[in-house]
Amino acid sequence: MPQETLAASPAAEQLRRGHAWLRFRSVLESSYRQDQFRHGLFYLRASLGIGALVVAVFALLDRFVLHIVHEPLVELVRYAVLLPAIVLALTVTFLRDGSRLYRPVVSFLAPFGLVAIVALVLSAWENGQDQAFTALILATMFVYFLIGLPFMAGLVTNLIAAAAYLGGALLLAMPGQELTYNIFMLVLAIAVGATTAYNVEHTRRTAWLESKVLDEAALRDGLTGIYNRRRFDEHLAQVWKDGVREHRPIALLMADIDHFKAFNDRYGHQAGDEAMKSVAVVLTRFARRPLDLVARYGGEEFAIVLFDTTQEHAAQVAEQLLEEVRGLGIPHHDSSAAAVLTISIGIACVLPVARRSSAGLLQLADQALYGAKDAGRNRSQLLHEEYEHMKTGYFRRHMPDSKAGQ
Ligand code: GH3
Ligand code: MG
Ligand code: MG
Repeated sequence: MPQETLAASPAAEQLRRGHAWLRFRSVLESSYRQDQFRHGLFYLRASLGIGALVVAVFALLDRFVLHIVHEPLVELVRYAVLLPAIVLALTVTFLRDGSRLYRPVVSFLAPFGLVAIVALVLSAWENGQDQAFTALILATMFVYFLIGLPFMAGLVTNLIAAAAYLGGALLLAMPGQELTYNIFMLVLAIAVGATTAYNVEHTRRTAWLESKVLDEAALRDGLTGIYNRRRFDEHLAQVWKDGVREHRPIALLMADIDHFKAFNDRYGHQAGDEAMKSVAVVLTRFARRPLDLVARYGGEEFAIVLFDTTQEHAAQVAEQLLEEVRGLGIPHHDSSAAAVLTISIGIACVLPVARRSSAGLLQLADQALYGAKDAGRNRSQLLHEEYEHMKTGYFRRHMPDSKAGQ
């Protein structure tokens, strides 16, 4: 939301609230999942590829090297459950909608895959190869760390596998001592894996939130928390293009605090800072739509972009702004404009055209602001027709480089 201040950014808010349950609030959660999926895609595909390879190599080893002839069930489990599940998961990573589909698909497939491994391990045990049990321990780690499952889905999958192992071992009448030992080891592995998997996901989520907050902070003004000049420049360039394409007018309001130097001189810079924050809070209330934006343009100047707005509406907004800033009632006894802190506003409203840049709009708003100052401050002035006749490159006063960040 353009009008939010830094304190209200969803990522900062989430960071403050914590995420013990490893889940963010709606929009953040889907954006986190997408990012994670995209960033981990190479390793995910590599893990799944290696997983499929391991299953295939074991099958080949059994048949051609160890010459073990398995029961049909074992072959079925390998070729009809395990391999297809891994290949299916791998395929989903290549789909266009993969980032959305991968989790539910793999959360569904993983228990089948792991129960299939339980069947293989128990079948091996029946044939006297009890060392195959270690493969099950490894498989639980594979589920936690290598197939991109969230912690909870990994834990549930592993617990289902443990239950399947217990059930299968009882059915096969595994001796009590061996069964107890194996179940104890399996549950221990699942618990140790769970603790680590939880920590890994929690840390990863925290790091993601922090990077979001940092990204956000780079576009915010440190004092007021509203957007800074850099964000303003980006936004104006963007809406200018949108305006050209969609033939929508853009209004730009430049607001400047009246006699602010005198305010600082009389009340001190700290009071000046507080006053500026109060003015910023008032201004942010006026950018209500997604393409509207309020930014600190520099010093005690603010810029408000209103997309698809008529001159009449822009002028109305300016009047409300003037009124609300006066309404703050911040005493300013060294102002010639009023007994309280006031602003002056220059409004420019134009229909963007491809052959011109947004610099003309800025220039026009700036001229309008000067007009408002000249006319006595604590008022707004609107310019629009002048745009057509404006000489590009003509600036009434020095314009800072529009590319420079703040
Ligand atoms: P005018 O009505 O013509 O705009 O007069 P002005 O005094 O507001 O304009 P001028 O450009 O002479 O002075 C701007 C002042 O704004 C000077 C500077 O000390 C003050 N200012 C700019 N940024 C900040 C800030 O972040 N904090 C504080 N406290 N003051 C600031
Ligand atoms: Mg000023
Ligand atoms: Mg100024």
